[in-house]
Amino acid sequence: MIQERLDSVRGRITSAAGRRREGAGPVTLVSVTKGVPVERVEEAIALGIKDVGENRVREAELKYASIGAKASWHFIGHLQTNKAKDAVRLFSLIHSADSEALVAAIDREAGRLSKIQDVLVEVNISGEKNKYGIPPEKAVDFIKKASLYPNIHISGLMGMAPMVDSPELARPYFKNLKRIFDDVKSGGIAGVDMRHLSMGMSQDFEVAIEEGSDMVRIGSAIFKD
Ligand SMILES: *Cc1c(COP(=O)(O)O)cnc(C)c1O
Repeated sequence: MIQERLDSVRGRITSAAGRRREGAGPVTLVSVTKGVPVERVEEAIALGIKDVGENRVREAELKYASIGAKASWHFIGHLQTNKAKDAVRLFSLIHSADSEALVAAIDREAGRLSKIQDVLVEVNISGEKNKYGIPPEKAVDFIKKASLYPNIHISGLMGMAPMVDSPELARPYFKNLKRIFDDVKSGGIAGVDMRHLSMGMSQDFEVAIEEGSDMVRIGSAIFKD
């Protein structure tokens, strides 16, 4: 039952926010619907889900055709520059700005649509070579460069902890991303608005929230039987 799992996830989000060092604030639950049939996405939306996350532009387009603006669409996967055009048309937030070429492509397409595209900068906090994202030590420079593109609005950071055996082992990675987030915020880069810290998935979202996440991306804990 989606309802029971969703209730449980929401309860766990609220408790984790209550344990947060900096005090409880709202946490946006992005339901990750990749691979989930459209009827089940509709079911989740009927249960109050407002934000859905997809990692393939084509799959999102097919779902958008029946769901439309009943949900806010989040792009959470790796975005190829040649898909920037379709992505800008559909997504309210792209969580995975991870190269200057991609930022330039998003900016160009957003300009054509007279849209200011909200993006998060993905930081490779796990340090794994096969993962996307800007290396932590290069994040500030990258953000400064990306902030110069007029049709892009940088509204936070996204990161993924490595696969670990217990959520507690993910904590240092989330702490590190929160530190970068706070540094960028206090640096006050013009045009950059550190509003969202997107971290935490089914395996580790409670620890991520305790460490300051305000946006969790949860798929299997809601949809997996
Ligand atoms: C699939 C995915 C998620 C959700 O993962 P679950 O373990 O199913 O909660 C979150 N973020 C990204 C980037 C993903 O690709």
